[in-house]
Amino acid sequence: MTARLPVVVLGATGVVGQRFLRRLAAHPRFEVAHVCASEKSAGKRLKEAATWRLGGEEWAGLGDRVVAACDPDRAFAPVAFSALDADVAREVEPRYAERGALVFSNASAFRMEPDVPLLIPEVNAPHLALVHEQRRRRGRRGAIVCNPNCTATVLASALAPLRDVFGVEAAAMTSLQAVSGAGYPGVASLDVLGNVVPFIRNEEAKVEEETPKMLGRLEGGRVAPHPLAVSAACLRVAVVDGHTEAVSARLVGAPSPAAVREAFAGWRPPPIASGLPSAPRRAVVLHDADDRPQPRLDAESDGGLATHVGRVRACALFGVKFVVLGHNAERGAAGASVLNAELALAEGLL
Ligand code: NAP
Repeated sequence: MTARLPVVVLGATGVVGQRFLRRLAAHPRFEVAHVCASEKSAGKRLKEAATWRLGGEEWAGLGDRVVAACDPDRAFAPVAFSALDADVAREVEPRYAERGALVFSNASAFRMEPDVPLLIPEVNAPHLALVHEQRRRRGRRGAIVCNPNCTATVLASALAPLRDVFGVEAAAMTSLQAVSGAGYPGVASLDVLGNVVPFIRNEEAKVEEETPKMLGRLEGGRVAPHPLAVSAACLRVAVVDGHTEAVSARLVGAPSPAAVREAFAGWRPPPIASGLPSAPRRAVVLHDADDRPQPRLDAESDGGLATHVGRVRACALFGVKFVVLGHNAERGAAGASVLNAELALAEGLL
């Protein structure tokens, strides 16, 4: 049996941190060595430091673990999963990377740095090679690997098959985003129940800048961003988990909706991505029913790691339009980082 690699979870008490613990407690290749959070939680057991917010076994059986501060001198492992907020991540993640860890981050702090991979294994696995450039340029032994913003992840996962089969020129996206995307307690219930909030701070800018980087090509040690134009409108709705996005796309050659459906149905990610231990059975699931995908019915399938597409039809403005759904806290956060780490392992970086 292959030995499991020790990992540290930074921000283990938070909403994304708890999802990390649930995924990692039974992971075949990773083993939780340290759980870290703020100084206010350090020294307490997990179950005393915070409240478990997910289904399944409380704290995934790790509730008696003692929380450490996010300090690589006191709690180090060669793999760090970070569920820290951006301002904390900006301080903590480089310290772990300098000490030699590969840091798999959910925070926005370093996503747009030119030597930091903004990685989705199914979409841009070759971008992981930026790790070598980052180590060389910054003289650090480890490196930071980011997963993209959750809304951008869902969009890029749907555009990747269209990029590969036809070429994408432009995409306009309107999101209907789950409240769990705002962490816990997130959006006040009185603001969102029976309501739609038409503003999520910084979200549209993240989608518009991260998507071209993700869909771009690695050339000579840097990512040449994909030249597509992206326009995003992000709305918060009273859904618990799962971001739904209505997308209109202008594709090279103006293919018919039937050809686009065929492209979604036939597309497969590169074998290195589909062979990872946590990979969903189908990266992109095409739904035929007129009323799918729906967050309640589809977001959790395949551990929340599949991307669901449906309602592919003609668009009078852009050519084709469709609906895409993905789990914001799994495909867009914890599950995404774990997949990225599995790719690093498969590529021999760990
Ligand atoms: P959260 O629930 O607020 O958790 C934050 C974590 O960071 C907690 O463990 C907290 O520990 C720790 N922390 C706070 N201040 C700290 C400090 N000064 N030093 C060390 N640790 C500190 O946040 P979240 O919703 O899980 O989000 C975490 C990250 O993931 C964010 O960057 C967010 O943007 C990103 N993200 C979230 C989602 C989502 O669906 N929620 C999706 C994609 C990306 P204490 O308990 O001790 O305070």
